[in-house]
Order: sequence, then C-alpha cells, then structure tokens
Amino acid sequence: MTRMPTEDTALSQLHDVVHEVADAMRRRADRGAVADYIPELATVDPSAFGIAVADNDGNVAAAGDCDVPFSIQSISKVFTLTLALGKVGDNLWRRVGREPSGSPFNSIVQLENERGVPRNPFINAGAIAVTDVILSGHQPREALGEILRFMQFLANDKAITIDKAVAASEQRTGFRNMALANYMKSFGVLTNPVDFTLGVYFHHCAIAMSCRQLALAGRFLSHSGKNPETGIAVVHAERARRINAIMLTCGHYDGSGEFAFRVGLPGKSGVGGGIFAVAPGKASIAVWSPGLDAAGNSHLGRIALEALSKRMGWSIFGA
Ligand code: GLN
Repeated sequence: MTRMPTEDTALSQLHDVVHEVADAMRRRADRGAVADYIPELATVDPSAFGIAVADNDGNVAAAGDCDVPFSIQSISKVFTLTLALGKVGDNLWRRVGREPSGSPFNSIVQLENERGVPRNPFINAGAIAVTDVILSGHQPREALGEILRFMQFLANDKAITIDKAVAASEQRTGFRNMALANYMKSFGVLTNPVDFTLGVYFHHCAIAMSCRQLALAGRFLSHSGKNPETGIAVVHAERARRINAIMLTCGHYDGSGEFAFRVGLPGKSGVGGGIFAVAPGKASIAVWSPGLDAAGNSHLGRIALEALSKRMGWSIFGA
C-alpha cells in the first residue's frame, strides 16, 4: 500500500516514541511491587516491560516484552462490560452504577449504604455483578467460552487462552471477592449461584494476553465502536464513547483522578500490571509492567503512558 509522506512521518514518529519510552522504562529502578495476594501472580518477573500501540490506520508499533502474555486481570472488566451491555442494554444500570468509587478495587464499604448495588462496573463488586448478568441463561462454561471467544474475535487471534493456574490460585484465596459476592447476593443483586458467578469472574480475570493482542482487541474503542481494519461494528459509537467515559472516571479505582491528571486518556488497569488505554480517534494502547503502586495500578505502566501521551499530544484535554 502506498502511503502519503505525512502518514509515513507520523508512523515513524510513533515507532520512535514507543521505542524511546520502552528504553527509558527499562533503565528505571523504581518498579513498584508485584501483586502477591493472588499467589500465582507473585511469581511474575518484575523487570518485564511491554508496550503496543495499534493506530486507526492498521499499524502496530510495539517494543519490549510486547509479545509476552500476562494476566489481564481487571482489564477484562472493559470487555465484560461491553458484552453485558450488548446483552441487556441500559437495563444493566439497574444492577451497577457508573460513578467513581474513590475506594480500593476490592472495597466493601459502599455496598451496605447502597443496598448491594456497586458503584461502577470496574471495581470488583461491579464486575462480579456484570459477570452475573453475562452468566444468566447459561452454564458457567458457556458464559466463559463466550467471553474468551469475544477476546479472540476482537484480537483476531484464536491462540488467546485462560491461565488455569492463575484462576485456580485466585479461586483458592479470593475470600474478599467471595465476601463481596455473598453480600450482593443477600441484597438480591446477584441472580445466579455465587460459586458459579465467581468461577466465571476468576477465570475471565485470568485470561492471558500480550500487549499486542490487547491493543488489537481494544481498537473498537478508539474507532467509534468499529474495528478500523475490517470496518465491522462491535458496538455503536455512542456505546464506545460511554465505555471510554467510564474508563476515564473509574478505570484506576482510587487512582483514576491521578491517571486522568497525568495521562489524560481513558484507561483500565489490572493487578497483573497491565494497563489498556484509548486515544479516541487515534489509537488503542496496551502497556505491561508487573510492579504496582499503592492503588494497585502498574507503576511504570502509568509513567510510560504519561510519556507516550505527552510526546504524541494525545491527551483528551488538549495537546
Ligand atoms: N482478579 C482480581 C481480583 O478480583 C482483579 C483485581 C484487579 O485487577 N484490580 O482481585
């Protein structure tokens, strides 16, 4: 394909920036702390760093450990939200709110005052409620298959799998999530057996993907709901906008304000150290560095995204 000279220049600038950011991150000594409350995640090498940017013209710029699969953890919440909205539309908002929580990802404090309705779909309680919606009418295995196939379809990669060891590790130790789920069940917010809903939740958190696969999977959110390569609509443009809005306000738990302040892009973190971010109209981005900050978000991942967004002039609040 022949490209206009200006496009070539923009593409090579993106490649340069992505490599420079990866090099700068490799040299840093401050890496945060790898999550260890899920024992299997504690075994991940803290020196890993990967980045991939898929732009709306079909290019991918990637560097570092961009092809190493990692546990996407809470990043799966973006995709389960998309599926649940597809299934029940705006009725979803009867089961979960869409306001920032200002609390840690696994907090239970607001649930009592708010009668078991979680603040938003990106805290654990909210994602468990969303998973319950996807599960209704299915066996857990079918619901999980639907989520996994959705990821494979979006990334156009059938090789994406669930890391069973991570899922089992969380299933053995996920007492906080069990408490959240039982508490919501007592208010009638969950309709399926708690064990079934949690089983599906733990397994979709344990999907393993590389930065490249994740950046490709998220392209519909940077391109008004459509895959920029195939033109296939995943969701309507309005829904893509709204999912991005919730990522901006709730995607980093109690660190969401800081992420917006520093990076200026909708983003969703996971305790595996991944962050998925969207530059609307421009690109879908994934970074991975396993060490976390105090709010449970990737320490270097956020710093890398701040540098990328600044260099590319991608902040949604202005260049
Ligand atoms: N599976 C993790 C949990 O439920 C997801 C948390 C996260 O990535 N922030 O604790």
